[in-house]
Amino acid sequence: MRLRKIPFFVLVPLLLLGLGLIQQQNRPVVTRSVGLADAFDFPFEPDGGERPPWYASYDVQNPYLTSHSRCYDTTVSQLRHAGEDWFRPGGSEVHAIANGRVVYLVPDWDHGDAIVIEHPLKEGWQTPWGDEVVYSLYLHLDSEVQEGEQVARGQVIGHLQPWEYNSHLHLEIRRYADMAVALRCPASGKTWLVGPSYVDEAKSPYSYGYLNPQEWIESHR
Ligand SMILES: [Zn+2]
Repeated sequence: MRLRKIPFFVLVPLLLLGLGLIQQQNRPVVTRSVGLADAFDFPFEPDGGERPPWYASYDVQNPYLTSHSRCYDTTVSQLRHAGEDWFRPGGSEVHAIANGRVVYLVPDWDHGDAIVIEHPLKEGWQTPWGDEVVYSLYLHLDSEVQEGEQVARGQVIGHLQPWEYNSHLHLEIRRYADMAVALRCPASGKTWLVGPSYVDEAKSPYSYGYLNPQEWIESHR
């Protein structure tokens, strides 16, 4: 079809629409600053500030996890949980636990998207390792943020993936954005940015740079 056969009143809006779409696709990442992490909150019902009705704790072994670990040459039941599982209905809103920036968005990581947020800490706060920054990891989401985006405490960063029985958020608070620097999987020799979510029986998750999420949040409200 030759362009001159398309009437102007069709062509011009088409061109404008085309330009708009291109602009939207190349939309720059939001760079407004949200400030330092000066308070931490829960990933669900952040305003209520209540711990969830039930959840799977940090640094526990779960005898029901009989599947084989991809990272360690054993069943997951033998491993120690590096984070906390917060059980909620599929589709529940997941909130950023503090001000920060999305440093990694890994789509389709082990049932849903993985998000890592960097939290530069307010003056006077530091991790047990003396760092003035800490990272939070969220697994099993349908994400609603982009890599590089600034997020404010309480902002919705995604929704829980709807599963038949046990939709949950796996939340970690940790020293490293990229777990590849601290942990190599013994079974495969591989390293994963997201990390294996569980660590071996011999050492605590803390020794790999994982903090207790509940304790960290409650002592930094
Ligand atoms: Zn978990």
